[in-house]
Amino acid sequence: MNAMGMAEWLRRRALRDPGHPALTFAGETLSYAALQKRVEEFADLLAAQGTTQGDRVAYLGFNHSQFLIAMFAANRLGATFVPLNFRLTGSELAYIVTDSAPRILISDDAHLESIDDLRGSLPCEVYIRFGADARGWRGIDSLLAEPNPAVREVAVDVDDPACILYTSGTTGRPKGAILTHRNFWSNNVNWMLAVNYNAEDVALTSAPLFHSGGLCVITLPTLMAGGHVVLQEQFQPGAFLAAIEEHRITSIFCVPAMMLFASQHEHFASTDFSSVRIIVAGGAPVPEPLLRLYGEHGVPVSQCWGLTEVATGATFLSTELALEKLGSCGVAGMLNEVRLIDFEGNPLATPNVPGELCVRGDTVSPGYWNLPEATAEATGADGWFRTGDVAYQDEDGYFFICDRLKDMIISGGENVYPAEVESVLYDHVSIAEVAVIGAPDERWGERVVAVVALKPNTGLELEQLREFAASRLARFKLPLELRIVTALPRNTTGKVLKQNLRAGVPVEA
Ligand code: AMP
Repeated sequence: MNAMGMAEWLRRRALRDPGHPALTFAGETLSYAALQKRVEEFADLLAAQGTTQGDRVAYLGFNHSQFLIAMFAANRLGATFVPLNFRLTGSELAYIVTDSAPRILISDDAHLESIDDLRGSLPCEVYIRFGADARGWRGIDSLLAEPNPAVREVAVDVDDPACILYTSGTTGRPKGAILTHRNFWSNNVNWMLAVNYNAEDVALTSAPLFHSGGLCVITLPTLMAGGHVVLQEQFQPGAFLAAIEEHRITSIFCVPAMMLFASQHEHFASTDFSSVRIIVAGGAPVPEPLLRLYGEHGVPVSQCWGLTEVATGATFLSTELALEKLGSCGVAGMLNEVRLIDFEGNPLATPNVPGELCVRGDTVSPGYWNLPEATAEATGADGWFRTGDVAYQDEDGYFFICDRLKDMIISGGENVYPAEVESVLYDHVSIAEVAVIGAPDERWGERVVAVVALKPNTGLELEQLREFAASRLARFKLPLELRIVTALPRNTTGKVLKQNLRAGVPVEA
C-alpha cells in the first residue's frame, strides 16, 4: 500500500479543504491552509537553524498548537520529532535528550527552567522558546522575523522515522519507540476505518500529545480525515466539559481516569453531550459503572487496545458492543493482524485460553532507538511484535485483556516501570530490599505500591519515601502506598514473587 509522509498528507488536506477549520487552541482557530502556512514557515525557520534530513527536533511542553506545527515542520524537512514528557524530572529528561541527541530543542515557557538546569550536559545545538530571544534561548517570534529562505519539500521515505516516542523502559531506562511515516499513516487509516473519523468531526484532545494516546488515537487521524481538532493545554474536568458544549464536540479520546474525573465534576450531570458521537477509550479497560453512566448521558464508548510501539490502535470494539461484549477490547484493526501465542511461543487458536498478544502489520514500529537487542527481543524475524499483554479470545473472536507479562503499572494513563522506581528507592538509607507493584485503585486505575523490608533499627513513612524520590522520579511514579515487610517473598532462584505480592498472599510484616 502506498503510504505517504506526515507533512505530505497534511499538505494535500490543506490543498483540498483550505478553509475548513483544522485546529483550535486557546481561542485561536487555524484553517487547514493557515495551519499549513504555519508549518511551512516553521520548517523554513528550522532549516535556517541548521536542521536537515535525518536530524532530530525535540519538543518539551504542554499541549499547544506549536507542538503540532513543530512536528509537521520537522517532518517536512525529513527530520524526526521527539516529544518529551513534561512530567519527567531532570535526570529522566537528560537521559532522553542525550539518547535522542536532537539538534534543536523547543520548550514552552513553563519548562525553560528544567532545561536551563541541564543545558551544560545536553547535546543540542539550538534552544528555541516561545516569544522573543531571551537568556540564551532563541525566540520563535524573533526567528520568524528573520529572512528564513523558503525550503522546498524534502523527498521523505515513508519508512524513515517520523517520531521517536519514549516509553518507560523495563530495565529502568526509557526506550524510544521509532514510529515511521508508514506507521502513522497506517495507524490513521486504521482508526478512520474503525471509528469512522471524518471531516464533520470536531475532536477534543486534552490528553497529552507527547504520549501516543493523545497524539495518535484521535488528533492525527482526525486531521488526516479533514476534521477539526480542539486542543486543550491539559486535562481539567471543568474545562473539558465546557469545551464539549462550546465546540459541539463529536469525538473524544480518554483514558478511563479522565472519564472518571469528568464524571465526578459538578457540571457533569448538566453538560449537554448531544453532539458527542463517540468517546474512544484506551490504556486500560473502562469499568462497567462508567460505561453505563456515560451511556445514560447518551455517550457511546468504544474501547480499544494498543500501545506506543504499534502507533496506538491494534484492536477496536464498536460502541454498539460495549455492553454486549463487556470487558472486551474488540477485534484486530483492518490494517494489522493480531494473534495470541502460548507461553512457549506457539500460536494459540483455542478460545478462552490466555496467551501473549502479538501484532503484525504496517503500524508496527521498526524498533527502539539505539537499542538493537531490545528491538530483536520484541519483534521476531517473522514480523510479529510481542506486546507483553496477556489476553484470551472468546468463541466469537473478541479479545479480552487479562494480564500483563511486562512488569508495568499504568497509573492514570501513565506507564510506570517498577524497575526504574526500585532502582531509585534502593538508594534510601533505611531500605534493605524493595519491590514495586501495582494495586487496583478506584481513582488512578492502578496505584504504585512500594513493598519494603527495612534495615535493622530504621523506620520509614510514606511521605519520607515520596520526598526522597521526588527529585529523581516524576510525580506519577512516586509510591502512593508503602507496605513494610520483614523480607520479600522469593522463589528458589531468588526472584521476588511479585505475583504473590500483587495477589495479597500474606508476607511477614
Ligand atoms: P502505552 O504504550 O503507554 O500506550 O501503553 C500501552 C499499554 O497499555 C498496553 O501494553 C497495555 O498494557 C495497556 N492497555 C492499552 N489499552 C488497554 C486496554 N483496552 N485494556 C487494558 N490494558 C490496555
